[in-house]
Amino acid sequence: MELWFTEKQTESYGITAKVKETYVREQTDFQDLAMIETLEWGTMLTLDDMVMTTVKDEFVYHEMVAHPALFTHPNPRHVLVVGGGDGGVIREVMKHPKVEKAVLVDIDGKVIEYSKKYLPTIAGELDNPRVEVIVGDGYMHIHEHKNAYDVIMVDSTEPVGPAVELFSKGFYQGIYDALKEDGIFVAQTDNPWFKADLIETVNRDVKEIFPIVRVYCANIPTYPSGLWTFTMGSKKYDPLQVDATAIPELDTKYYSPRLHHAAFVLPKFVENLVK
Ligand code: SAM
Repeated sequence: MELWFTEKQTESYGITAKVKETYVREQTDFQDLAMIETLEWGTMLTLDDMVMTTVKDEFVYHEMVAHPALFTHPNPRHVLVVGGGDGGVIREVMKHPKVEKAVLVDIDGKVIEYSKKYLPTIAGELDNPRVEVIVGDGYMHIHEHKNAYDVIMVDSTEPVGPAVELFSKGFYQGIYDALKEDGIFVAQTDNPWFKADLIETVNRDVKEIFPIVRVYCANIPTYPSGLWTFTMGSKKYDPLQVDATAIPELDTKYYSPRLHHAAFVLPKFVENLVK
């Protein structure tokens, strides 16, 4: 008998992947967690039946959350990752020697535990001495830390369940206050095919708080629609003013100094959402 994992990306459309083995299926205190071995994408973490990350395509998302902001800020010493319990963004942050400390705050310790066990190529830097892992609510953490971080990255699940607050205007104001006077934040802001309203709303809210707001895209085949957006809010530094020739070539497979600016060139139907 064939077994397939299907994610319903809308009420009438989804993707499906043939499953070789299920390693974990557990209802945690916050979400329905599964770790499955798929033939096409390798080991896959899902939460509430949504693809979070896969061994085969994870590099795109994790590189594109981390590197544009870390190469825009001239001295990103203190970094915060909200969510990101699979460790992929932290792995990319650790490629930046200027980062003295990276704090990860994920509400669900089971995501961290099972990612360390079943996704070692993604979660491998969570034990780095420069990393502090906190199991807690990112919304609370943000409001308890003022003027504390150079860069904040929001690597949360979609705005459902515990992540709903992580897409609210109050959260972005909290991020502004938790950033230092020249801080930068970036958040994954879903896809323009099925979540155009979310992208518009977040962009409007962030523009009311930050002087510089930029949106960029990347191709993530296992995420809804495959076209993913990221929204960056900055107090001082503009990613489009970065001298790409000064960006070093890192051990990456998607992000590059050449792609740094190109990623901010949006398809017209996406431009129209964020004008
Ligand atoms: N890259 C994925 C995406 O774009 O959907 C996200 C991956 S990461 C596993 C998402 C994490 O956000 C989960 O581990 C979840 O526990 C965490 N999360 C959700 N709400 C949170 C909150 N309020 N505070 C901290 N972490 C939260």
